[in-house]
Amino acid sequence: MKRWLMDILACPAKDCRSELGLEVFESHDIETGDGTVEEIDAALITCPKCGRWYPVIDGIACMLPDDLRMEGKQRREETAFLENWKGKIDDDILENGMPFGLQPES
Ligand SMILES: [Zn+2]
Repeated sequence: MKRWLMDILACPAKDCRSELGLEVFESHDIETGDGTVEEIDAALITCPKCGRWYPVIDGIACMLPDDLRMEGKQRREETAFLENWKGKIDDDILENGMPFGLQPES
């Protein structure tokens, strides 16, 4: 995703629609006719209002409703994302993130 996309994205959660925060983990520059654009490959998007987080995986911002994130392949992919970047993600998101965080190994 392009960094400028953050300027138009809002939290998709119903009754939230807040502006979002962005923490970039991996990105690369792309040359365009008008100069250089930063393409973000991996990042964490956070909502300061409702506490939700959204991953950018392989350049794609995954901003799905909670019920589509809670199970199946999406849950596994997003959990793998948290696992992968947990060293760079706030403990608050890992422990209390919405709609889920990283469950301690049981
Ligand atoms: Zn929100």
